[in-house]
Amino acid sequence: MTNDELIRAAEDAGFAGAAVVETKDIPFDFSFRQYCAENLCGQYAINYCCPPDCGTPEEMREKILAHSRALVLQTIWEISDYSDKAATKQAKAGHNQASIQLVKALRAGGCDGFLVGASGCALCSPCVLPKGEPCRFPAYRYSCMSAYCVFVKKLADQCGLEYDCGPGLLAFFGMYICD
Ligand code: SF4
Repeated sequence: MTNDELIRAAEDAGFAGAAVVETKDIPFDFSFRQYCAENLCGQYAINYCCPPDCGTPEEMREKILAHSRALVLQTIWEISDYSDKAATKQAKAGHNQASIQLVKALRAGGCDGFLVGASGCALCSPCVLPKGEPCRFPAYRYSCMSAYCVFVKKLADQCGLEYDCGPGLLAFFGMYICD
């Protein structure tokens, strides 16, 4: 697929913004890993796609750099109160659901790749890692931008996508990594 076709597929899937970058241009900051360890999201060490089980920051970056392109994906949500955790969680779930649909469409179109989510993998609720069972959907599971230590604001700026969308609006970002 061409870059234009990737962007069109994202727009058709309902994303507010999309852009293609070369993976070598993605900004990483390994210092972000400490925020995962603080476990504000509650997924640390209980999800295959979250630290520490997902891999070290270096391993995560290498996974991305093993491919040439990233389709950067943005959704924008009306959330009047940013401290409203339920609304934020619902919006992130909406972003990730749209992403999974897009993954299916892109793969069906012959563009193999993998997803980087706006939050850690929530395909099962909860993840079966603590039970010691194997991952149920290894082909679709996704780690989040934070687990990859992607500097999202810098990436959004590079892509010409709004990171701060203004009062009452919240943007989420993810990527589809492919060749
Ligand atoms: S697909 Fe299910 S088992 Fe696999 S990482 Fe995601 S939540 Fe965990």
